[in-house]
Amino acid sequence: MKEHVYTLASKDFQGRETGKEGNFKAADYIAGQLTAYGIPPISGDSDHFQEVSFTTFKWENIQLSVSGEAVEHLKEYIAIPQHFPVQTGPIGISSMVFLGYGIDDEAYSDYEGVDVRGKHLLVYAGEPRDLNDNFRLTGSDSISEWSYDPYYKIEAAKKAGAASLWIIENDFRQMVMYARRELLTGATLMETPEQLDTYLPLVSISPALGQKLAGKKVNKIIRLRDKITKTGKPQHTTIPVDLQLNAVHQIKSTPSVNVLGYIEGSDPDLKDEVVIVSAHFDHLGMRGNDIYFGADDNASGTSAVLEIAQAFAQAKANGQGPKRSVLCMLMTGEEKGLLGSQYYVEHPIFSLEQTVADVNIDMIGRVDEQHADSNYTYVIGADRLSTELHDINEAVNSKYTKLFLDYTFNMDSDPNRFYYRSDHYNFAKNNIPVIFYFSGVHADYHRPSDTPDKIMYEKAETIARLAFHTTWELANRDERIKVNVTGRN
Ligand SMILES: [Zn+2]
Repeated sequence: MKEHVYTLASKDFQGRETGKEGNFKAADYIAGQLTAYGIPPISGDSDHFQEVSFTTFKWENIQLSVSGEAVEHLKEYIAIPQHFPVQTGPIGISSMVFLGYGIDDEAYSDYEGVDVRGKHLLVYAGEPRDLNDNFRLTGSDSISEWSYDPYYKIEAAKKAGAASLWIIENDFRQMVMYARRELLTGATLMETPEQLDTYLPLVSISPALGQKLAGKKVNKIIRLRDKITKTGKPQHTTIPVDLQLNAVHQIKSTPSVNVLGYIEGSDPDLKDEVVIVSAHFDHLGMRGNDIYFGADDNASGTSAVLEIAQAFAQAKANGQGPKRSVLCMLMTGEEKGLLGSQYYVEHPIFSLEQTVADVNIDMIGRVDEQHADSNYTYVIGADRLSTELHDINEAVNSKYTKLFLDYTFNMDSDPNRFYYRSDHYNFAKNNIPVIFYFSGVHADYHRPSDTPDKIMYEKAETIARLAFHTTWELANRDERIKVNVTGRN
């Protein structure tokens, strides 16, 4: 494992950013290891690669002016290039419709009795409250999907035929923080840029810019909002504006690969069932002259999956191979938004119905602030679709590895949302049981200082052994594990 980590996280691999030379070098290294273990390419293919093509979007130019005065992107407004139709020239806007919260729900609709076809809409983020301070849509103090998922408002505006949607974000700074990652990566799995033209231009703006747009009508808008609260009836008004928006995309196609090592099962009745063991091998690459080595994230998990692949290949060579098939998958594009695993589940090589589970490993070589002792691993997701998977992991751990299993991040309420943040989630979404091994974040996380000398190799090895035993059990027990939990994936 140490050799793998020192190789993958060396200067030569330049941080393994998806689509860059170092990423291909890493893929070649991984495929070379699989070949050395005697694992052949998947039948019908000449290499170990599944080709994945990403499209990356950046702003070549993004400019907005209000009454001839330029306003600054990320200071007063945000537009995300990969969610914005490809424009061929600047758009000028001379009037907008203020439309409350931009909600179109059975319980309350801002679109009621107003034709907004071809209009530019200005709305508030969130949703209205009533006089008892409850949210109107839920009748309680919890928010509805209209508050937490912007997709609903975009869809409603599109359905009504609006020309663009401008959302006033109360917490604009936080919004910028969340959007920064998307802006930095800019990657999607889109096959053609024309697919962007199905989007509606969406611009999120600061409250200050909202005021500027409203101009003389600012008090009227505030009165209308209060009226919505008092009456529960939608309110709208037309605002004259003088806006110029120029949004020019820079679009690039970025090829990369997932690397697959397939060990066919030995039992003719069970070998069509596949257990996946996965880790992403990509990382952040370089910024300026700094190399983001990504030793823990995720050369550590990659090295574990390679060793597990070797163990299964060796068992098979000794005539003791697993009954079910095992697919070792080293994924690309994770740091761009779990894109390699998304590509795999959208273009599976083995049927997803026959996929028993995904055992995913991401960052297992360090100790976080919550633990004084290194003898632990976080276990995430194991009981969310199948209690049997959870039980198997507990049983093999108490028999072989005796790690402290920390379930803190498996709670539905985990504010870090780690369950949603690595490749296993794309399998869980498809109702495939997952187990995610992870040892937590640290000061070097997503920094150039995540280097191989800081990895605790014995700890990483123990977690790799636990992942191996769990995989072995999943691949060899008589009955395939059952999906017996609903509503938590
Ligand atoms: Zn990672």
